[in-house]
Amino acid sequence: MKIPAIVVGAGPTGLACAIELKRAGVESLVIEKGCLLNSIYNYPTHMTFFTTPELLEIGDVPFTCAGEKPTRLEALKYYRGVARHYGLKVRQYERVEEIHGEDDDFRVLTADLWGRCHAYQARKIVLATGYYDRPNLLGIPGEELPKVSHYYKEPHPYCDTDVAVIGGRNSAAIAALELYRAGARVALIHRGATLSDHIKYWIRPDLENRIRNGEIRAYFRSRVLRILPREIEVETPEGLIRLENDFVLAMTGYHPDTDFLASVGIRFDPAGGKPRTNPQTLESERPGIYLAGVVVAGMHTNEIFIENGRHHARRIARDIAARLGLSSSSGF
Ligand SMILES: Cc1cc2nc3c(=O)[nH]c(=O)nc-3n(C[C@H](O)[C@H](O)[C@H](O)COP(=O)(O)OP(=O)(O)OC[C@H]3O[C@@H](n4cnc5c(N)ncnc54)[C@H](O)[C@@H]3O)c2cc1C
Repeated sequence: MKIPAIVVGAGPTGLACAIELKRAGVESLVIEKGCLLNSIYNYPTHMTFFTTPELLEIGDVPFTCAGEKPTRLEALKYYRGVARHYGLKVRQYERVEEIHGEDDDFRVLTADLWGRCHAYQARKIVLATGYYDRPNLLGIPGEELPKVSHYYKEPHPYCDTDVAVIGGRNSAAIAALELYRAGARVALIHRGATLSDHIKYWIRPDLENRIRNGEIRAYFRSRVLRILPREIEVETPEGLIRLENDFVLAMTGYHPDTDFLASVGIRFDPAGGKPRTNPQTLESERPGIYLAGVVVAGMHTNEIFIENGRHHARRIARDIAARLGLSSSSGF
């Protein structure tokens, strides 16, 4: 059976696409390599979103939360509920590996967690594959050591240890503060001259005060050159120093899986590194394959969030419905 549309990725954007397709009369199947909302599931355990709940809503379902902004748990619960409400068909723990064929006649090959392979036929494809699986690597000796992580979950395991946090944006700032409060000895190492201007206004003063009080040691205009089992080597404006170190948290950002995107025929703008898409419909240069969510920004991942990425869904659904000769029932 040929499925009208396959959506790859069950993040907020992928779910929004499946909903808008359904409202436009297009049945779809969402295929997700992890669990539903795999990226958000892997975010810091106790995180609170920066965004107020109404800006995270999909499918016109109201999102209410206990505080001013939702927690990770509230977001998981909300999106889970929305997927159930719309009766979305989601295949979890199944990675899309290859896409063959052409517009109106694609063949999608997947492999599931249990080692089985699957094949689907689809008329249209929407790639909403996000960026959280691919950390921006430092590319330095020692990065492969088990004490190094590009993901921060929670501070408890780091109590009474020497932790280097690399980066100067929100994720680094939040991790440094939480670690300090859990009793870690924190060194914040950032290549910039100051903390990033992108750090949220309610987080920045707290970190600045901890640095001013010497509670968090900050090294600006500095770079970690080498990670050793119990130390790190840091190039600072004052010269090369060695710091005692038990753990490294490299909060240096993430990027989309460009190898996967290229392998399925997505072409990139050589100047900005963004995938080439039709700005109105978000169809890529491979006819019948659309991009949605943060993946549209390519390496510029700070340009698209849930807040604005969720709006891609209607544009894509409208185009797919029109191309499949279906009339829309969602009034767009
Ligand atoms: C710590 C943190 C806090 C944030 N806070 C906010 C905030 O407050 N407000 C805001 O608007 N944004 C925030 N963001 C950004 C936002 O979460 C992302 O931009 C958003 O998740 C992107 O949604 P998406 O659906 O495009 O991608 P994702 O949520 O990453 O979903 C992509 C999905 O595709 C799946 N996938 C990938 N490849 C394959 C494949 N080959 N086969 C099958 N499945 C695949 C992944 O497993 C994943 O589940 C935050 C990000 C981080 C890291």
